[in-house]
Amino acid sequence: MTMQAEFDSMLYRTAVAQLDDVAKKVDLEPDIHERLRHPRRALVVSVPVRMDNGRTEVFYGYRVHHNTVLGPTKGGLRYAPDVNLGEVTGLAMLMSWKCALMGLPYGGAKGGVRCDPLAMSARERESLTRRYTAEVIPVIGPDLDIPAPDLGTDEQTMAWIMDTYSMTQGKTILGVVTGKPVVVGGSVGRREATGHGVVHTLGQVLRRLERDPRGQRVVVQGFGNVGSVVARLLWKEGCVVVGISDVHGGIWNPRGLDIQQVSQHVMESGTVTGFPGAEPLSNAEIIEQPCDIFVPAAVGSQIRDDNVSRIRATVIAEAANGPTTPEADVILRERGVTVIPDILANAGGVVVSYFEWLQGLQYHFWRENEITTRLQEVMTHAVDQVCALAEKNDVDLRTAALMVGVRRVADGYRTRGLYP
Ligand code: NAD
Repeated sequence: MTMQAEFDSMLYRTAVAQLDDVAKKVDLEPDIHERLRHPRRALVVSVPVRMDNGRTEVFYGYRVHHNTVLGPTKGGLRYAPDVNLGEVTGLAMLMSWKCALMGLPYGGAKGGVRCDPLAMSARERESLTRRYTAEVIPVIGPDLDIPAPDLGTDEQTMAWIMDTYSMTQGKTILGVVTGKPVVVGGSVGRREATGHGVVHTLGQVLRRLERDPRGQRVVVQGFGNVGSVVARLLWKEGCVVVGISDVHGGIWNPRGLDIQQVSQHVMESGTVTGFPGAEPLSNAEIIEQPCDIFVPAAVGSQIRDDNVSRIRATVIAEAANGPTTPEADVILRERGVTVIPDILANAGGVVVSYFEWLQGLQYHFWRENEITTRLQEVMTHAVDQVCALAEKNDVDLRTAALMVGVRRVADGYRTRGLYP
């Protein structure tokens, strides 16, 4: 079985290695296994943008559908300087297993634009988003592929996509994206959903390990949409958040950081660095500090064979997608570290995205407590299923979660058969 050179990237290699590993465990037929290693379709677009200095700059954008066997595809849109086709493809594959694990009627997708959103003005980001949307219109839509926020994108980005798409259709189409602002058809609770799901899942796993969340020392890498919510909720539950980092660096205080004050500092300065009352540390240092729980909530491939031996947490909750390389994963397993895998830990976002999509299609909106209750029900069921399977097969949580997701997608292929 070969890997196409154009998709080569660490994240795609990670996703394929995970699939190959689990294929043996679920007795996947070689034909279906081979089909699942490749994306169904991948679109590469160039996105010209008139910059504030009057010059036109051209960016590269991607949208990849991994499979459509269970329904339309779903997945985030990422703006980052190192986005490439392979990374987006690996992330689309992870979305397939995540949606299937959560029992959602979706295949996996992902999108990205290679750019530095922090170095762009709001007007430049809007132009980029609108032109990217125009270029990927043939492959997105409420019953085709539904983007959502990811690294470097937010509610505003989704509003621009929804507006651009709607303008080309001559009517407002709420269901084309999720993670929109509530005023234009977004769902209450979506903004916090991923972080909320991470904390709910972590709580359930800690209970099984008979560990009280109160007093657990936590390090969170990334203080964006997901990381900031995780840090705040864990802090409220009585965890001691000893370290936080973002793209600019990290802050460390073994006595615990006041997350409300950190959030205030970030609102004023745009970064956690420079927070008074904490020691400044580099990003590499922060993830190696003594703690009980480590929550990677930034970019991929952060836990690797070259740093895994210095990571001291005994529980890792993967809020980010693909934060652990396959080599490091093996070492963590051997050391008995409990890793709550990305496709389980961070699935709260896509679950509430599904709720938002349903609400938009029906023009009927739910109250926040309905969203929270239903989210917790779905996540609890998934954690129960994964933990039971892990115990039964004597495998780690990642393997068990992938077994559930891959098996469900493969069942779909088997049942539908191969066209033509
Ligand atoms: P975001 O852009 O809101 O925040 C990202 C944070 O990570 C920022 O604080 C940024 O400064 C920091 N960061 C970026 N590069 C870094 C680096 N090299 N080292 C350390 N910190 C760095 O993004 P987000 O939406 O919070 O997404 C974070 C992760 O969670 C991503 O891996 C994403 O795929 C995953 N995720 C997000 C959602 C969602 O709903 N937003 C859902 C599921 C998974």
